[in-house]
Amino acid sequence: MKAKKGQVAVYLVLVLVALAVLMLANVNVFLAVRSKNRMMNAVDAAALAAAKYQGYLLNRIGEENVKRLRAAVLGEPYEGPDLHVLSFFGPVEALVKANDAAREWGYETGKVPDSINAFLDHLGEIRNDAELYPRSEENQLWPMYADRLAAALSGPPAVLPSYMEMVNPGTSGLFGSGGFYDVLAAKAWCWFTIGGNSSLLEGDPTSLPPAEVTPAPEYPENSEVFSLHVTYQSWADSDWAEEYEPGIGFSEKWTNFVCQVTGLEPADFVRNSSAADPESVWAFYDGNWKTWSSTFNPDNFPIAGSVRPEYDVAGCVAACMMIGEVQQIEEEGEARKSRDLLITADAKPLGTVEDLEGGGRVPVTAYNRFIAASRPGEQIFTEAQLALVGSVPRSPGVSMESGWYEHVKHHSPKSPSPGCDYCTLWSQWCEPSYRRSIQDWIKNHAEECRPKGGGGPAQKGGYPYAH
Ligand SMILES: [Zn+2]
Repeated sequence: MKAKKGQVAVYLVLVLVALAVLMLANVNVFLAVRSKNRMMNAVDAAALAAAKYQGYLLNRIGEENVKRLRAAVLGEPYEGPDLHVLSFFGPVEALVKANDAAREWGYETGKVPDSINAFLDHLGEIRNDAELYPRSEENQLWPMYADRLAAALSGPPAVLPSYMEMVNPGTSGLFGSGGFYDVLAAKAWCWFTIGGNSSLLEGDPTSLPPAEVTPAPEYPENSEVFSLHVTYQSWADSDWAEEYEPGIGFSEKWTNFVCQVTGLEPADFVRNSSAADPESVWAFYDGNWKTWSSTFNPDNFPIAGSVRPEYDVAGCVAACMMIGEVQQIEEEGEARKSRDLLITADAKPLGTVEDLEGGGRVPVTAYNRFIAASRPGEQIFTEAQLALVGSVPRSPGVSMESGWYEHVKHHSPKSPSPGCDYCTLWSQWCEPSYRRSIQDWIKNHAEECRPKGGGGPAQKGGYPYAH
């Protein structure tokens, strides 16, 4: 006991001495810590504000979805907003909310990171390239979207999305595959064995045909920033398909579901319901709304242990970043310095619906992915929470990088263009000795190339196997 007390005393003295030294030498330590904390609070608030707005938009889409369902079942006409407008344009407003929240913490103008230039280039492409981003006289969704995003980021912005899901015009072939350049850049050689792509290491890549670019959809379903991951499907294309038999009608399960979410009685149903009409399109959660536990190995970072079942949905995420100036510790004889610090925060809207069969609350996707609250007047998403950065699944891809479209549209695998980062990676790839060194690496490191966790589906893409 005595010995312990002695140790504590010695430790205290050391701490006090260290503190005194710090206080005498430099008061700006405090300044640096305080400005960093303020930035973290600001970017947390921004991500939460954006995620709340995502929840609001999904609630609105759910309400309209149910109103439309009610009208279809009753055989009445439905007049409501175009849901595409909510899911494609709505999240741009979430970016405005995020910036408002950061400004409340005093961040009037954050520093603008370099990536904003790539992003602004991309908006220019949307406005000017009618071939890649198609529009017609009556449909000007893409140019309107570019204008709204540019307006949301004018100012200049305090907060930017740290991750964007570009509606990327499809490209073909290895030369036009964004994920392949990720593999090259990250030196993620296990991709060649685990993805079953080892044949790519043989042969002559210079003989490959150029990439073909296919245009983006004319009616995009989701925004590139803070995507809601909504999909619009007809009855027959959705998970509801088997709940309807032509000539017989709707299943009992489906009838019960409709009665619960619309407040109707089975007697209200009309025979000529247009719900299963192939022309009627409904809002569903897309494939991104899968469970977290199927995406991550629970033994590994970032989630250890189990996720509460009602929260076990990946869904959509508001990923924000901010670059701010932090006062650097002042050195003797030197002027006060500052440095740039990049801070990110991810937040998610969260909610549950009633389990119509077993009782209790279940993930929002429980109703065959149909976007709906449990009862009329209820909300689906009731809160937003911060998520661990890195814990939200993101698909790999290089599409937001500056020069990507230039590369796939104008460069050729036969004659790479100097000064293009992708072409530089490609030229390296074309060297037979380079590909041989990859084969050698794989031979020596076959053990490391096993997917972790066993049992589960092998992951595709580069990063998990990077060395
Ligand atoms: Zn290129």
